[in-house]
Amino acid sequence: METHLFRCLSDNYGVLVHDPDSGETASIDVPEEAAVRKALADTGWTLTHIFITHHHADHIGGLAALKGPDVTVIGPRKDEARIPGLDILVHEGDSVVFGGERVMVFETPGHTSGHVTYWMPESGLVFAGDTLFAMGCGRLFEGTPADMWASLSKIAALPPQTKVFCGHEYTLSNARFAVTADPTNAALKARLAEVEKKTAAGIPTVPTTVGEELATNPFVRANTPEVAAAMGMPGASPEKVLAEVRARKDSF
Ligand code: ZN
Ligand code: FE
Repeated sequence: METHLFRCLSDNYGVLVHDPDSGETASIDVPEEAAVRKALADTGWTLTHIFITHHHADHIGGLAALKGPDVTVIGPRKDEARIPGLDILVHEGDSVVFGGERVMVFETPGHTSGHVTYWMPESGLVFAGDTLFAMGCGRLFEGTPADMWASLSKIAALPPQTKVFCGHEYTLSNARFAVTADPTNAALKARLAEVEKKTAAGIPTVPTTVGEELATNPFVRANTPEVAAAMGMPGASPEKVLAEVRARKDSF
């Protein structure tokens, strides 16, 4: 699989996934029509599939305009009523074939109740929407810290080299917060420095990898003694630690 990442709206990422053998091309979410069309023109790929992670406008804004008779739209069954135009409704444990490859579906509630994440095990790609960000996670609009912990844990259990594509470029702000939530983490300090350089140069910090997030993401690391200690909660459950990390990030 080939991927093409592009910036759109204020801080969203769009990504196209293309299988050269079958010629099939998927857009993971469709933040806005024009940006997706430009990405298709830039690559010369023809859209055949759209995978939707969740119902927020900055992820489905281009759906009505981009959906056509030759485009299959896959999205969360739980959000059927909130996302018009879904052709294939998916939930936990489902898989869809795209480009001859299996795409596995995880339900990853927390940011929204219906949020799903798509994993392509053969290519080692995961599309996490607004669940997992580089050194961050989505705000808890429709879920609990326990929901988010369970969702992040599903992604964190994938092979460490798995590339993680997420919905936004929030990395620098996430990293600046992360060093306060995990202050003794040397890998995190090094990553902050790297992200500062990349951001200053206008280079995307996405995709990240599962392994990098396990090493440096304070939400994924809510089960570590280091993050629990930094929250002043030694011995507390990961759900409780995550709740505190999220609350502090919300007012950072
Ligand atoms: Zn969202
Ligand atoms: Fe979003």
